[in-house]
Amino acid sequence: MDANLERIIHIRVKRAMEALEKNNMKAFYVPGKKEALALVSTMLAEGETIGVGGSVTLSETGILELLRSGRYNFLDRYEKGLKPEEVKKVLKQSLLSDTFLTSTNAITETGLLYNVDGNSNRVAALLYGPERVIVIAGFNKIVPTLKDAVIRVKQTAAPANCVRLDCDTYCEKSGRCLRPVCDDSDLMTLPPGACQNTICCNSVVTGRQRRPDRIFVIIVGEELGY
Ligand code: SF4
Repeated sequence: MDANLERIIHIRVKRAMEALEKNNMKAFYVPGKKEALALVSTMLAEGETIGVGGSVTLSETGILELLRSGRYNFLDRYEKGLKPEEVKKVLKQSLLSDTFLTSTNAITETGLLYNVDGNSNRVAALLYGPERVIVIAGFNKIVPTLKDAVIRVKQTAAPANCVRLDCDTYCEKSGRCLRPVCDDSDLMTLPPGACQNTICCNSVVTGRQRRPDRIFVIIVGEELGY
């Protein structure tokens, strides 16, 4: 990476980390995927029950493979051959896991996590249930403000996920949401019925936590996920 760009990114990462800590979320920085995997590995205890949210980042960092090593009681929602009702059961069990691993749609420099979810098992676990949540995110998820986080989801994360999941939505074809900005009338939502097959069902802003030992955020100095 260009040294000047790297310096700017570090300033933004530091600002986001300080704000997350002020919001009672433990923040870490690692330079790359390899270090993210190593850090996560030191944070997990053998035999603990682990659930995951749908995440490209977990796959790109090798964390999914680590969870399949046999050292943990991994509730693998992606296990081959699972029927839809079995996947549903795994997702429900994951809400009571010891540790839930996920990425996030955005991290603001003001110390918030912003997530928009279709099934909503991911945001449910972030809110309550698992004893601990570890969030892993590339630096590309950092945005200045909550408004920028909303725009990031509408113009990047949701369209890319709709392509990945083949959702037949407006954004899958056009590359951005029907309402691609955060406006005064609808904020992060759409008028009723505007997107029939939406994956933007529930929007969650994670702010200051009551428990300082529950949410851990690992920011990686590489672009990961979307
Ligand atoms: S509301 Fe619909 S069109 Fe807009 S980003 Fe979400 S899925 Fe795409």
